[in-house]
Amino acid sequence: MSGITSLTGATAGVVGDRMHGLATELFPICRSITGDGVRETLREISKRIPLELHEVPSGTQVLDWTVPDEWNIRDAYIAAPDGRRVVDFQASNLHVVGYSEPVRELMTLDELRPHLQADAANPEWIPYRTSYYARSWGFCLAQTQLEELGDGLYDVVIDSSLAAGSLTYGECYLPGEREDEVLLTTHVCHPSLANDNLSGIALLTELAAILAATRRRLSYRLLFIPGTIGSITWLAQNEQQLSRVLGGLVVACVGDPGPLTYKRSRRGDAVVDRAGAHVASRQGGRVLDFVPWGWDERQFNSPGFDLGVGCLTRSPESDFAEYHSSADDLDLIRPEFLEDSLQATLAILDIVEQDRAFLNLSPKGEPQLGKRGLYRGLGGESAATDQLAQLWVLNQSDGGSTLLDIAERSGLSFDLLWLAAERLREGGLLAEIEKGTP
Ligand code: ZN
Repeated sequence: MSGITSLTGATAGVVGDRMHGLATELFPICRSITGDGVRETLREISKRIPLELHEVPSGTQVLDWTVPDEWNIRDAYIAAPDGRRVVDFQASNLHVVGYSEPVRELMTLDELRPHLQADAANPEWIPYRTSYYARSWGFCLAQTQLEELGDGLYDVVIDSSLAAGSLTYGECYLPGEREDEVLLTTHVCHPSLANDNLSGIALLTELAAILAATRRRLSYRLLFIPGTIGSITWLAQNEQQLSRVLGGLVVACVGDPGPLTYKRSRRGDAVVDRAGAHVASRQGGRVLDFVPWGWDERQFNSPGFDLGVGCLTRSPESDFAEYHSSADDLDLIRPEFLEDSLQATLAILDIVEQDRAFLNLSPKGEPQLGKRGLYRGLGGESAATDQLAQLWVLNQSDGGSTLLDIAERSGLSFDLLWLAAERLREGGLLAEIEKGTP
């Protein structure tokens, strides 16, 4: 419809397949909050969009935190007394607790057991666990695998390194006509897990490509960051420029069949909140109030920043059975849900871009629409609804209400009201009021 190109019928299907394809390509990489897996992932993304990679040295103070040592892993296994690898990092990178320190030991099963984690409720799945800030090591395995382990001496190897290096994050800045910017972020720190978090990576990559090819009133900054420490690092390094941020969206878990879900920012009424609520509710999705839980919205909405950053998901964090397990795989995310989530993101950004106020130039009585050729359908939902949209825009356009205000009051869609306003402006009945920062 309006400023940002929404997907057309011609590209529908293609874009969802492309996002799923990127998720498939990145799936095998062992990512963590630092290390070569994140670098390799960001390098792949940078082949598609203009992405700048930042390296922040271990030990750097960032707000109340410190950038940790860099973790890399080459191999890990538990070998049975007969030499067979009964748990093998090469089969699934979820088998090793993230940030495990190196180990090379012969151990009895009893000695090994405190280092093994399984999920009895889902006995076929490998759970995903990490230990970033407390040095330890461990393996994750399916409950069924655990139950097959007999007595004997096991060869336990984790060939990893924890050493001074850096934290890597990716930043794609797309300047618009204004410096005011919208922040769009996703975390990039999970190993082979699809919905959390390759779906967010795939959506943000596709979104950046679309935004880069679009005329933009606002500026956009897309961050591909390791969870928590990445947003804290970015905030610490960009504190002087945060007044430009109008608001933003954390995008995560956007590929599963759950309904579209918008979680409000701490402010609750930021421009992104109102656009997000409008889009999610009109698509039969859910609108949740802010809670200081979830992903990087916790940092962006901390009281010292309060940036008005909401969160777009389908199933929210931990609200789907497969969450943080090997069952969060490439079959859980589907091209059609990825594409639907991308459409919703574009619709939200469209509103943020396009929301504006108009002045009714014929405010005394209703202007006669028929003699101006305006008494006919807009090609919207129905001729009657189109007429109603025009009447709402005329009635509310006294300079105080924007199109989104009118959408909320009337219950009509922003798109329909935007079309009505365009038609009325062409007919000489409306003039746009130049607004400052939305
Ligand atoms: Zn997660």
